[in-house]
Amino acid sequence: MERREFLGLLSLLGTVGATRWAAQQGQHEALSGALTEHKLPPLPYPYDALEPYIDAKTMELHHSKHHQAYVDGLNRAERELARARATGDFTYVEYWSKKAAFNAGGHFLHTLFWNIMAPPGKGGGGEPTGLLRQLIERDFGSVDAFRRHFAAAALAVEGSGWALLHYRLADGRLLVLQAENQHKLAPWGTVPILGLDVWEHAYYLKYQNRRKDYIDAWWNVVNWAQVQENLQAVMGK
Ligand code: MN
Repeated sequence: MERREFLGLLSLLGTVGATRWAAQQGQHEALSGALTEHKLPPLPYPYDALEPYIDAKTMELHHSKHHQAYVDGLNRAERELARARATGDFTYVEYWSKKAAFNAGGHFLHTLFWNIMAPPGKGGGGEPTGLLRQLIERDFGSVDAFRRHFAAAALAVEGSGWALLHYRLADGRLLVLQAENQHKLAPWGTVPILGLDVWEHAYYLKYQNRRKDYIDAWWNVVNWAQVQENLQAVMGK
């Protein structure tokens, strides 16, 4: 997923982009319906660009192994569901539906995660500005209060998960929520515009069990300009 496509995805709340017809996938595979071929997006910076806050080895493993696995898992799950439609055998529809949600969550959130970070001092760090800042101050009281809330949510995620800043479509409010795993605890009708991955694979090599140190360090690489772009894409502005 390219960056432009990702913004389109945010604004449309659905997958867009190239689709291919099942019939083109191979003569031996009976599928029903069109499928998107999800792809691992390139990182918008080199693996070592977020040093010293996030180390190069962690970034490389996280992007090239973990995120790739979610992309592969999502393609697999959607293909299996298309195959079930073609054959009429829905024996494993529950299994593949769960896999589709889990891996789609992983693909979406990691694409978001890479894009809302930037090298420290070169787009990363600092403070939110503009409309984003106005909405943060309106809905949380202050930028500091937002940071404390977000960091506490990240620290307290049970097991593997995320802290997320959502935009709620119904009333235009920003809200901080947790996600367990990569798709649980999200309400309907909201779109994440900022996320922090607190799975152990995101920080364990450098920070071991010190999740709080990782969260504190992460603010130095947040790309607030991109978060504002995400906000505007979701708002349609
Ligand atoms: Mn991750």
